[in-house]
Amino acid sequence: MFRKVFILIVLAATMPSAQAAPIYVFPVANCEVNYARAHHDYPATDILAKAGCKFVAPINGVVNEVNRVDRWSGKTNLGIDRGGLYVSIIGEDGVRYYGSHLRSIPATIVPGLNVLAGQELGSIGSTGSARGTAPHLHFGISWPTSENIWWVRRGAVLPWKYLDAWKKGKDLSPVKAVNAALAKAGEIPPVPKK
Ligand SMILES: [Zn+2]
Repeated sequence: MFRKVFILIVLAATMPSAQAAPIYVFPVANCEVNYARAHHDYPATDILAKAGCKFVAPINGVVNEVNRVDRWSGKTNLGIDRGGLYVSIIGEDGVRYYGSHLRSIPATIVPGLNVLAGQELGSIGSTGSARGTAPHLHFGISWPTSENIWWVRRGAVLPWKYLDAWKKGKDLSPVKAVNAALAKAGEIPPVPKK
């Protein structure tokens, strides 16, 4: 019995990756969604969905930054405040995934927590600069940085083709694209004007 189990484990470990179960999942669970291929100013995707729909981890990883307070004001419109409530994780692929404008974040979601693909990170809303607009998840893909480098965290690589693949249950990794963007921009590029 032990020997059989051992052989199965070895087989699973040596199977070609194309046959392995997908490691990426779509970041909004069990809800109708709509998203465009373009985003204003910089690469990211706004995923429209009903308020309260679940933002879930797109891959196994570790919770990175969590913000539970909406400090955004239309008067100042500071870049660091625009996300409202947000969560980022560092995936086991080394990529950072960020979701913002959240309505709420479970109390259990804290920096350093290990999360599994599909695990709830928050619920979709309209906080930050999305106040007064249709609820949506702003989804950003980037390389990890030190804390509060919001202009990288908000997105450095266009997510739509990965979102399309994950939605169809196909595995598609943004690792190469993220590494290329990092090599081009440098780890902490200058703060943009907008
Ligand atoms: Zn956005």
